[in-house]
Amino acid sequence: MKIKEILSVLEEMAPLAYAEDFDNVGLLVGDQNTEATGVLVCHDALENVIDEAIAKKCNLVVCFHPILFSGLKKITGKNYVERSLLKAIKNDIAIYAVHTALDNHKEGVNKIVCDALGLTKTRILIPKQNFIRKLITYTIPENAEKLRNALFDAGAGKIGNYEDCSFNSKGIGTYMGNEDSNPEIGERFEFVESDEIKIEVTFEKYLQSKILKALFKNHVYEEVAYEIYDLQNAHQNIGLGMIGELENPMDEKDFLLMVQEKMQADGIRHSTFLGKKIQKVAVLGGSGSFAIKNAIQAGADAFLTADLKYHQFYEAENQLILADIGHFESERYTKNYIVDFLRKKILNFAIILSEENTNPVKYL
Ligand SMILES: [Zn+2]
Repeated sequence: MKIKEILSVLEEMAPLAYAEDFDNVGLLVGDQNTEATGVLVCHDALENVIDEAIAKKCNLVVCFHPILFSGLKKITGKNYVERSLLKAIKNDIAIYAVHTALDNHKEGVNKIVCDALGLTKTRILIPKQNFIRKLITYTIPENAEKLRNALFDAGAGKIGNYEDCSFNSKGIGTYMGNEDSNPEIGERFEFVESDEIKIEVTFEKYLQSKILKALFKNHVYEEVAYEIYDLQNAHQNIGLGMIGELENPMDEKDFLLMVQEKMQADGIRHSTFLGKKIQKVAVLGGSGSFAIKNAIQAGADAFLTADLKYHQFYEAENQLILADIGHFESERYTKNYIVDFLRKKILNFAIILSEENTNPVKYL
């Protein structure tokens, strides 16, 4: 099996198009046409993890955080990033980063935390904007079903828990072809009025080239009539953070003790207790201070995230309990999820969970 076959499974798990624009995801180091010997899944692809990959004969390291994040002009081994990259390159080890592609996925980082805490009725906290487009096309009634199905197969027509969604209306189309035309119905220079079906479907914008290919391949017109629009709707199934509910409301302190135990957190810093029961809980793995307002707006009783600064605790504004459960801790089960996903999709192949703890933060 080539490395690229494993990469396509990772893409299935978390499409790279879901990642945030600032991010650096996907294959960071290595040649995807190399034969894969094994996969090591880790949180951070530090030098000691590359050593582990060498020892365990894995030539693909899948990391959550991209070890290579900002531009490098030299790779001389003078810091931890360069040392890791140098060692990977010298030993023919590829590195692939998942990061916000999985943060934004409805089964990803935040769902994993919700599941660990037993939260139900989960939904995305900040649905992703500018991600949905609409295709409108016109064809003869005889072509409509085939064309629609081809568009669905290419990924169009998915809305929440529904697929094969489209709107179809009947109308009259008109046209007249010039001397170079070859109309499906009528003759050159003939003004034609013909029954047409207007098909409307939405799609995630990164699928556009695939959908246009299906459109052109399955449409019967010489000149395919179509329009594409950007939609203002947010995508309810893609986005950062998640909000869910505890089955039974808990006292604030008991709740945080439960979080501490379930997330194996050594220390939780939190804002002032409000004497309220906790039922609705927002979570955002990693640095999530930007989402405090979203958590309040969504009516959360508590917001669990990481990397909160002193002044940001004030932003709780006595509306909810803000809790910093630790950056690594909030994402700690992600690597297990990646391993489980790969093992389900790729049978009889070495997919190994890294044993290195790469959390740089220690507690007394
Ligand atoms: Zn992180």
